[in-house]
Amino acid sequence: MRGTDSRDALARRLAKLGLAGQCDLVLHLPLRYEDETRITPVGEARTGKPVLVEVEVVDATVAFRPRRQLVVKARDASGLVVMRFLNFYPSQQKALAVGARVRAFGELNSGFFGGEMVHPRFRVLRRPEPLATSLTPVYPTTAGLPQWELRKLVDEALASCPLTETVPAEIRGTLGLPGFADAVLALHRPTPGADLASYESHAHPAWRRVKFDELLGQQLSMRAHYRARRAQRAPALGADGALTRALLARLPFRPTAAQQRVWREIARDLASPHPMNRLLQGDVGSGKTIVAALAALRAVEAGHQAAVMAPTEILAEQHYRKFSEWLAPLGVRVAWVAGAQKKTERRAALEAIASGETQIAVGTHALFQQGVAFARLALAIVDEQHRFGVHQRLALREKGSGTANEGAIPHQLMMSATPIPRTLSMSYYADLDVSVIDALPPGRTPVVTKLVSESRRDEVIARIREACRSGRQAYWVCPLVEESEALDLQTAIDTHAALSAELAGLRVGLVHGRLAPAEKAAVMEAFKTGSKDVLVATTVIEVGVDVPNASLMVIEHAERFGLAQLHQLRGRVGRGVAESACILLYRNPLSESARARLKVIYENADGFVVAREDLLLRGPGEFLGVRQSGVPLLRFADLANDADLVEAARAAAERMLAEFPDAAAKHVERWASGRADLLKA
Ligand code: ADP
Ligand code: MG
Repeated sequence: MRGTDSRDALARRLAKLGLAGQCDLVLHLPLRYEDETRITPVGEARTGKPVLVEVEVVDATVAFRPRRQLVVKARDASGLVVMRFLNFYPSQQKALAVGARVRAFGELNSGFFGGEMVHPRFRVLRRPEPLATSLTPVYPTTAGLPQWELRKLVDEALASCPLTETVPAEIRGTLGLPGFADAVLALHRPTPGADLASYESHAHPAWRRVKFDELLGQQLSMRAHYRARRAQRAPALGADGALTRALLARLPFRPTAAQQRVWREIARDLASPHPMNRLLQGDVGSGKTIVAALAALRAVEAGHQAAVMAPTEILAEQHYRKFSEWLAPLGVRVAWVAGAQKKTERRAALEAIASGETQIAVGTHALFQQGVAFARLALAIVDEQHRFGVHQRLALREKGSGTANEGAIPHQLMMSATPIPRTLSMSYYADLDVSVIDALPPGRTPVVTKLVSESRRDEVIARIREACRSGRQAYWVCPLVEESEALDLQTAIDTHAALSAELAGLRVGLVHGRLAPAEKAAVMEAFKTGSKDVLVATTVIEVGVDVPNASLMVIEHAERFGLAQLHQLRGRVGRGVAESACILLYRNPLSESARARLKVIYENADGFVVAREDLLLRGPGEFLGVRQSGVPLLRFADLANDADLVEAARAAAERMLAEFPDAAAKHVERWASGRADLLKA
């Protein structure tokens, strides 16, 4: 019997593996298997592959060179094997006496005397014993939890947990997947002769069944979420379209076909009496802002308010300016709300929002803080949504309840310039509708990307001079110093001083996160209107800044940036008609992963390709930022290789929710168990 202490210790170890209840062990699947179902003659064992041998000890000595070790020589009819133990107990030494019969499992390498096993797992046979009848699973484990104990616990779970089928035969049949019980039993206890390669590559039908189930669990819970939200009420924003038409007529450009399509998708959602939850994706520079403006204007046309939130003050300010420029001439009242605003200004803005006088409020996260109350908020637009946590997004949506909307909640439009590969968005964003702007506006010149070693900085300086002499402007992005914001700031200040000297005659500005908002706005304005030639910046300009005349971007210590950041930064140029370039300055030696990132960004201009590579390099958790997305990660399915299963699970989920709700609920319960910690993240 285990004491309470050791039971607690066991529970803690299991919890580390994400195993909360006994039946979670059913889904704790082996990493690989060892074949102890047959004995390999020593003389026939291929080297480099673990085998089970049965031998008799012919010599056992403790040697002291090169260090203390137990050297056991043993043989079967076909040959001799030397087993070496660097750590051993006296009891083991005693058991491995001359004449003992031993079954040893391990890799057989060729050594000085022939076959050699280092630290084989062994068992001394006192009497003949039967061989294992299934392959021996090797489970993911944690310190203090040996494989034999995990195997025993899994055996108990398999015997006592109901391995109920949750996927109706109608759905399973068309996919050719085995039953649940068959699949998990096959994975935990494969029969001898099973095709190990297909197990290990996870291509075996049993693995496909488990991966399908996992994806189905994810789809079911996210689609259920989606349906629940759709069942709520939202203000139906139907309107005659006079204002949106007027805006389109005033624009200096014609929206692209892609922009028109996504706007139709959004307008259709807004006209419905249920809340929209749509993600608008479009590469950097694809023109999401005008689509957002049209959506906000639709709320205004229908007699409601809209809120536009951006993650940084610079970006929010820029939106405020764009929206004012576009909408004020139409008589729309736009207000600005930010954390660092003057008290009186802020109070006035909040009053106008609360009274309903303001029709569109633009700002940072200050928009959803306490004390901000909307008269009739009908649409919340969140730019660069991945920069916000789930809670922040929810908070803004909640601003719509308890107002003149009478229990209805606002529509939500999220925007992201980080293109998300299709399988990933089908999977992790299954609770959203997604619109994609898949083409850039016409007339853009592709940005030329260059990789330049820091030792050639002089050439880069000359290049900046040249660009500015021909009337263009340049960005110089300083590296991010992760450990310290102060250091970060100092780097930017030093770089600004150095560049001002090196680029004597040019007007060099500086913008960083610590500037007061008014100073920040002044610098940006000076760059925008062309009274600064060069803008030295920290990554505050990463998202959204739009200065079409800037044609050159230098990123110092590019090796320190992530792929998404590099792509975002590069997107700040190539917005006008001029030939644009992005120079990635790097310092040797490069780490393996930095080299891989720079290669991807150098070779690819398309944001979707960059994102796909980023996903491959970092995996979905890092890519999405699990903490932010609040979605549990997949354990078994692999979005890169199991795209067909993602599609199948999506279709099956819709059908199960409609036709087999009980089975759907059971399925979700099985797959959600023990993962609640991640759901809360
Ligand atoms: P992003 O999707 O990165 O937010 P923006 O909305 O900032 O892109 O648009 C980038 C630039 O392209 C802006 O200067 C914008 O005015 C311009 N733009 C947007 N749509 C079009 C279009 N259809 N034709 C020409 N220029 C456009
Ligand atoms: Mg933008």
